[in-house]
Amino acid sequence: MRNDLFELGDIPPLGTVPERMYASVIRRERYGPPHQAFRTEVVDVPEVGRGQVLVYVMAAGINYNNVWASLGRPLDVIGTRLRQGEREDFHIGGSEGSGVVWAVGEGVDQLAVGDEVILSGAQWTETAADIRLGADPMTSDSQSVWGYERNFGSFAQFALVDEYQCHPKPAGLTWEEAACFLLTGATAYRQLCGWAPHDVQPGDPVLIWGGAGGLGSMAIQITRERGGIPIAVVSDEERARYCERLGARGTINRLDFDHWGRLPDIGDHEAMARWTAGVRAFGRRFWEVLGERRAPRLVLEHSGQDTIPTSMYLCDTAGMVVICGGTTGYNADVDLRYLWMRQKRLQGSHYANLRQCRDIIHLVAGGRIDPCLSWTGGFEDIGKAHQLMSDNQHPQGNQAVLVNAPTTGLNTL
Ligand code: NAP
Repeated sequence: MRNDLFELGDIPPLGTVPERMYASVIRRERYGPPHQAFRTEVVDVPEVGRGQVLVYVMAAGINYNNVWASLGRPLDVIGTRLRQGEREDFHIGGSEGSGVVWAVGEGVDQLAVGDEVILSGAQWTETAADIRLGADPMTSDSQSVWGYERNFGSFAQFALVDEYQCHPKPAGLTWEEAACFLLTGATAYRQLCGWAPHDVQPGDPVLIWGGAGGLGSMAIQITRERGGIPIAVVSDEERARYCERLGARGTINRLDFDHWGRLPDIGDHEAMARWTAGVRAFGRRFWEVLGERRAPRLVLEHSGQDTIPTSMYLCDTAGMVVICGGTTGYNADVDLRYLWMRQKRLQGSHYANLRQCRDIIHLVAGGRIDPCLSWTGGFEDIGKAHQLMSDNQHPQGNQAVLVNAPTTGLNTL
């Protein structure tokens, strides 16, 4: 006889799966600001299928993608899944986390009940035709983001993942540290190290937007580890000091400039002259911080519409702007003359493959990169944490919430 429901932190016997669980749930009728969209509910524990693993979640990381899930745009995640034939009319987000393997499906042979794991946020079909032909799984047509496009993420007592999403949890990390860095860390790692020959080389200046944010804090450290020169963009002094502590050579305060947004019309000479003056002033500031007149060989982008024109203009000849998001919008302008005449590369990049995930986990486990955990909340704080992120009022670095872990700090089952 299965026990129906356990309270958060009231740990069932290892391997005992209850029928129902607590989850922080988004529903279509609550789409809107995150503080309104998330609500704790009791739902059925999902069935474990072939190749799948049920994980008892100890802690979960907070990421920007569930700000988008709350808003229901640009993707209506629930409506999209319903149209694809899934029956759940709710969304359980959370694209990273840490926990304990609680049940395994048929065919799972590399994990056992009781293993402590870190969960990676992308899913794909291992037998997909493109993967069988050698594609990086992140470029597979079958790839999607768990806890965003796919359901049953880490904002619940139990998460449902594929076996390959589970990475061994380094023993020296707390549950909340292990839960907070993989999504931003692996994404930044692929951006900076995954697109040869534009991977960071010793001495390369790298411009990093949002240096004190999740991606930015990881990107500064990865650049530093590779011998590059990270220069971070921020919006206040406290964030500037934080980036410097992580190894940024210096910072640029974006609020000192006002040429943001889409490019003026090419025929509007006055507006174009104003824009050019703005971007050149920003470029001179970059040189001052760098200490020499060199352009960034790489620009780590995620802010999107407001900053892409500047990123493309500033990037060195034959350099690369590598982008993984569009916080300020997707309708960005590129002056193609600079793209082809100066042979620049504008590269899209999305999360990371398993090798890249494992690399960043090793760097964190070895103490070379700090997971940058700045704040740990409780289960009821999930909506609040996403709201702060949406308002750009969240703490620096990465954030996590405890799910079943009883307290912060090092503790085991
Ligand atoms: P985050 O922690 O909120 O950091 C983003 C930073 O962007 C903020 O710290 C803020 O720093 C800066 N920012 C805000 N408004 C800006 C503006 N108008 N112009 C320039 N910078 C601005 O978020 P994150 O976790 O780093 O994620 C950032 C974006 O990347 C999100 O859109 C997210 O969805 C996307 N992302 C994509 C992937 C992927 O796999 N494709 C993975 C991770 C994240 P300042 O105010 O100090 O400048």
